[in-house]
Amino acid sequence: MSAELSGSTALVTGGTSGIGRATAVTLAGLGAHVVLSGRDAGRGEQVVETIRAAGGKADFVAADLTDAASARALADRARELGGQVDVLVNNAGIFPTGPTADTAEADFDRVYATNVKAPYFLVAALAPDMAARGRGAIVNVSTMVATRGMAGMALYGSSKAAIELMTKAWAAEFGPSGVRVNAISPGPTRTEGTAAFGDGLDELASAGPAGRVAAPAEMAAAIAFLVTEASSFVQGAVLPVDGGRLAV
Ligand code: NAP
Repeated sequence: MSAELSGSTALVTGGTSGIGRATAVTLAGLGAHVVLSGRDAGRGEQVVETIRAAGGKADFVAADLTDAASARALADRARELGGQVDVLVNNAGIFPTGPTADTAEADFDRVYATNVKAPYFLVAALAPDMAARGRGAIVNVSTMVATRGMAGMALYGSSKAAIELMTKAWAAEFGPSGVRVNAISPGPTRTEGTAAFGDGLDELASAGPAGRVAAPAEMAAAIAFLVTEASSFVQGAVLPVDGGRLAV
């Protein structure tokens, strides 16, 4: 087993499911002490057990990420558990879809709270310490619909377009201090969160060159690339991991 992240602590939000869980397992396999967060303690503890059973190091922190206070509290707890946080993966997200005219204001606020506000204040809480140490890596999880305009995706896609711009602005802000900030832009990926889409997920995926839905581990591999030395000169990038969908 490679131990490239040995001695590092990685905070993975939304580590209880789908892409986040695969990322937690992958980064632990690279030697990181993984602190994974989510709301569901049962699922969180299962991921911790899986990682520990494979000889890795992991802890779960229950956190409902809705605002600056919840983000700061999670950052503090991750620092307590890991000593410091070297890697942050802003993965927790929600993706309701539907006609703009039918969107309730509360749902709009919930999407922006989870997908934009919480990651913003997590970076605010953790990136300055990384910068002071002169090293760190942050990966934000976006979506291909932050780039493609698709009916029913205005709310979700715009929240992720915000995090793509923040990725670039943070690369400018923290990059000179040795903190690399990047994003991935996943295409359709089979997770608990997309189970409700049914065949719609396969239809969405069939339009791309790969012609298939991705596995969470394929997203985790791209995230692992972006937090390790293999990507040492990659900064402020949004990497499509979408089977080529954005290219065609
Ligand atoms: P998922 O299976 O639904 O998992 C979402 C994760 O986010 C869960 O661990 C959930 O934890 C956490 N989460 C949601 N709301 C939260 C909140 N308020 N506070 C704390 N944690 C919260 O989703 P996924 O498909 O793996 O998606 C992960 C990320 O990839 C999201 O940002 C999504 O937008 C992005 N993405 C996914 C796809 C895809 O096709 N799957 C494509 C493009 C982008 P708990 O349930 O434990 O709270």
